[in-house]
Amino acid sequence: MELIESYLTNNPCFQANVSQADGRYALFQTRGPLGLMLHSVGCAQPRAEVFCKNWNRADYDRACVHAFIDAKTGTVRQTLPWNFRGWHCGGSGNDSHLGVELCESDAIRYEGGARFTVLDRQTALADCRRGYEAAVELFALLCGKYGLDPKSAVCSHREGGKRGIASGHADPEHYWSGLGAPYSMEGFRADVAKALATMPQTGPLYRVQVGAFRNRAYAEAYLRQVQAHFPEAFLKTEAN
Ligand SMILES: [Zn+2]
Repeated sequence: MELIESYLTNNPCFQANVSQADGRYALFQTRGPLGLMLHSVGCAQPRAEVFCKNWNRADYDRACVHAFIDAKTGTVRQTLPWNFRGWHCGGSGNDSHLGVELCESDAIRYEGGARFTVLDRQTALADCRRGYEAAVELFALLCGKYGLDPKSAVCSHREGGKRGIASGHADPEHYWSGLGAPYSMEGFRADVAKALATMPQTGPLYRVQVGAFRNRAYAEAYLRQVQAHFPEAFLKTEAN
């Protein structure tokens, strides 16, 4: 899985995280995600970079997600730090879950709502599979990083809506069922769990350190400078 960082720094959601506009942002940033929500874009646009370009604007205040998965390459474009609070599901799930969008094949044509016609089934299924497989790998990685159990922590936007933590959308299940693709959320969770179980969990841990101080105020001041460029940076106190 290839991951490219393309943070949507101009999106108002990114800015709300930087300024910690209210307590929900600070909480999400210190605690990290409690769950992972899978979406699909709901339009026939397979290219992740198109969304990155369109959403990275100060006037794009409708939504912001953590990543888009390109349907033509399987490349993950990470658009928010994983511990930023996103605007992806239109409900309280934004306080608990991070959100990842599968880009959808251009071999389909939307007819309104969640209904679409398949123009080239073979191409559409190949695009769908590429995104699905990258999503399995990414979700396994994130479950490992945040100590989440795929069986309970992973849901779709549609499932979130049914549980009352998201708006009433059909994604991504409508995309899979509309294509006749052999995927379901039950299967997705099982595939993530399988990928997580085979991921190397041991071995050396490589940390990058950028400063060390005896004076806590100096450390905090420096941290703020580092965070302006690398929002995931944090302060760790070591006794010695
Ligand atoms: Zn969605």
